[in-house]
Parts: sequence; structure tokens; C-alpha cells
Amino acid sequence: MTRVPLRSDLRALSGYHSPQVDVPVRLNTNEAPFAPPAEWLDEVASAACSIAWNRYPDRAARELREGIAALHGVSPEQVFVANGSNEVLQSILLAYSGAGRNVVMFGPTYQMHAQIARVVGATVVEGKRNADFTLDAAEIERVVRSTDPAVSFICSPNNPTGIVEPRENIETMLRAAPGIVVVDEAYAQFAPWSALELVNDETPLVVTRTFSKTWSMAAARLGYLVGPRWLVDDMEAVALPYHLDALKQRAGLLALKYVVDMEARVRDIVAGRDRIVAALATLPVTTWPSGANFILFRPDNVAGRDVWQRLLDRGVLVRDCSSWAGLTDCLRVTVGTDDENEAFIAALKEALR
Ligand code: PMP
Repeated sequence: MTRVPLRSDLRALSGYHSPQVDVPVRLNTNEAPFAPPAEWLDEVASAACSIAWNRYPDRAARELREGIAALHGVSPEQVFVANGSNEVLQSILLAYSGAGRNVVMFGPTYQMHAQIARVVGATVVEGKRNADFTLDAAEIERVVRSTDPAVSFICSPNNPTGIVEPRENIETMLRAAPGIVVVDEAYAQFAPWSALELVNDETPLVVTRTFSKTWSMAAARLGYLVGPRWLVDDMEAVALPYHLDALKQRAGLLALKYVVDMEARVRDIVAGRDRIVAALATLPVTTWPSGANFILFRPDNVAGRDVWQRLLDRGVLVRDCSSWAGLTDCLRVTVGTDDENEAFIAALKEALR
């Protein structure tokens, strides 16, 4: 059989994968360490029995969008839902970028922004962060004004650095950017402020969110955006018919009944983050301030890759960012349960020896 060649511009792209190694302590993919509430699981189970499985789901996912809109105090017409925020990002890039158009981002940042932009044929333009991974307003203006981007990304809190973008930087980008500005807020519940307050129908700003982290629903693949009505209308052009299955729509809607539980889990994770940060401060590692459920750190005296392997040998898996551009020797640890966090710190102490 003759193998048909993959599109030549895709051959150089390696996918964004974190190895799923079966170890006792998995702190590599920024998921929630806790299961969702047991009552929610029961409700999803009975929802599964009452769905008209022979019928297509509500194409507009109306009830789920109403629920999300109520949560954020916006209109359902300002909400678009899809299979994970990755699919939301893909839909935005399909709708507004593509061949011959520029997409701006500031590395190191979430790698899927560049990956999806390239897959849809757009040109990726990368601006620079400072050595401490903060971003200068002047650099935002320079890049955005000189490249006429169709879409510009800011990730806040930024994955993998954890840094929360100040409001002024997003306002600067909105003033300077000719196209869509996307603020990827996959980790916003852990951060002190959200760009949701800047969303309105007159501004080409989109905020993307996910059920994968704080809602303990990574397995479900559910994400959404909040943006201007016209932009949500435009998503019609790129979303596949019935792209969001009926069970997921119900599961997401049911989850919204458990906001109080979700917020309690967020507080637990932030407390766990503070304890890890305090422990790291006593060890020979460099860290950066995190507003997320993970912490980036760089061992001062041992190569990052060696520390990653030594942690793995002790049953603790963290994300190895040491080969990523601008992140030499850096590792990223997700905040887990108290036991997992303690196991990580104990293993790290040994690994740094
Ligand atoms: N944005 C950022 C910054 C992320 O870190 C992730 C998850 N790794 C996503 C988006 C995608 O999340 P999901 O597709 O699970 O909603």
C-alpha cells in the first residue's frame, strides 16, 4: 500500500503530549486532584438514562449556555461551548485566521495556541517576554502594531509560568490589536482577577474557560468562551453540526449546581499551592509567582531533566519543560492533594541532593 504523505507543513509539527506514565503521584497535566461531588455523579448517571439517545442533541446547547451565562452575569448569546477549551481555541482560529494571516502570542506560553494556528495554516508571530517571564506593554504594542494579527493571544494565568497578566497589558493589547484578542483563562479561578469584566459587544475580546480544571471534569472535555454576540454568531460557521453531545450538555449544566463545592476545591488547591511555594522557598530552586494550580521551578544545581527522572524514579511525575524554548532546566508541578504535595516535596528534596 502506498502511504499518502501528510501535508508537508504539518510534518515538522510534533503534537503537544504529556506522557501518561502510570505512577502513584501524577502532577503533570494540571487537572483537579479531586473527583467531582458524588451527588453530581449520581445526577449524571440518571441523566444518561433519560436522554433521547436516538435523537441529535440540542445543536445550540441552549440550556448549558444559559447556565454558564448566569454564572458570569452575561447573555447566553455571548457564550459558545465546545469539546474542551482547545476546541474553542480551534474554532476561533478557524473562523478568523488561516493561510496568509498572522497569529500573535508571547512565549513561553501554552503551546496549543501556536500548534492550532499552524494546523489551520496561519503564520505564528512570537513576541518576547522579559527574563522573569513578565510582559512589557511596549513589546505588546510593538508586535501587535507591526504584524497586523488576525488573532492575538494572552494566557492568564500563563501556562507554564503561572504568571497572571495585569489588566493594563490586556487593555494595551485591545487598543493596539486590529483583530481578535483571546485571553485564555483555563486557570482563572485560581487567580485574583479575570478579563471577563472587559467583555462586551463593542470589543473584539474573547475569554476562554474550561471545565477541565476547577470543575474536576477533564474526562468530559467541555470548554467555552465568553465574547461579543457577533463573534458567538460567527462560531456557527466553523462548529460541526451537533458538535456537543447531549450527555455532556447535561453534565455541564448539572455541574453548575455545585459552584459552592467547586469554589471550596479551588480554596483547597490555592492553600496547597501556598504550602508547596513555602517548601520550595527552602530548597535550591528558582520559582515564579503562580496564580494557577501549578508552579514552575528550576533546580539551581542539578539539570532539570535529571531531577525529572529522579522524581519519576520515586513515583512522582511532573511536567518536563526543560527542552522548551526559553525554559531550560524548568519543570512544572501541578498542585495535588495534601498527600501528593508532600510526596512531591519529599521526593524533590532527595532528587536535589
Ligand atoms: N488553555 C490552557 C492554558 C491550558 O493549559 C489547557 C489545558 N492544558 C487548555 C487551554 C485546554 O483545556 P481543555 O481543552 O481541557 O479545556
